[in-house]
Amino acid sequence: GASVELRNVVKYYANQRALNGVNLSMAPGEFVALLGPSGCGKTTVLRALSGLESVTEGQIRIDDTDVVNTPVNKRDIGMVFQAYSLFPHMTVLQNVEFGLRMRRVDAASRRRRASESLDMVGLASFGGRYAHQLSGGQQQRVALARALVTRPRVLLLDEPLSALDAKVRVQLRDEIRRIQTDLGITTLFVTHDQEEALAVADRVAVMREGNIEQIGTPEDLYTKP
Ligand code: ADP
Ligand code: ADP
Repeated sequence: GASVELRNVVKYYANQRALNGVNLSMAPGEFVALLGPSGCGKTTVLRALSGLESVTEGQIRIDDTDVVNTPVNKRDIGMVFQAYSLFPHMTVLQNVEFGLRMRRVDAASRRRRASESLDMVGLASFGGRYAHQLSGGQQQRVALARALVTRPRVLLLDEPLSALDAKVRVQLRDEIRRIQTDLGITTLFVTHDQEEALAVADRVAVMREGNIEQIGTPEDLYTKP
């Protein structure tokens, strides 16, 4: 994984301020949860880091490269969103291969790497199915396989569990964490669920009104109110 640094990131949408000078440093391989209520700016932080959204001010570094002017497809980032993000007209395997096809990886390598990626999320035998034939949890596993197939240096997860029922949510959370640790991929995980953030992350960044107000390990946040 890469190191990630946001320094004094400000974001306005028209004249509405969404981020008010966000600072965040992540070590290579670290899993950080970004926790806070709806509207506090979590998704905007993720979109700024991915390049889906430009920033008004500030610096964003991945390893030692300033990526503020680097386009989305050159930032070497994998992303998983809330739900319904698979292409419905493609099979599971075609979905997972997609990022490799965009990079013009040859068909045989695509197939091999997509199969490895599906195997990693426990869906090796599901390659021929379509999204509508999968449960919500399975769809999110496929989305994770698709995000990781290009072996990105950073993984961004935007409430990937919020559409799932409680039992699946806990299972998939633990599985995401296991895969993340195996791969050593630097991961930022957006959630509004405090229990989830504390259970899964190395550190939790607590956001409020466009700022990170507090950041620490789950133990720190429990013992230092
Ligand atoms: P969260 O992910 O914590 O729910 P967001 O990052 O989605 O928060 O939103 C932060 C603030 O920016 C909110 O006030 C939201 O309404 C606003 N916002 C987000 N996206 C846009 C947009 N595309 N245009 C205008 N305002 C936006
Ligand atoms: P989240 O679940 O992260 O809070 P929202 O439902 O707030 O997301 O937003 C969904 C989409 O709408 C996002 O792409 C966000 O950028 C956009 N959005 C959010 N708030 C606004 C807004 N006030 N004006 C325009 N677009 C917005």
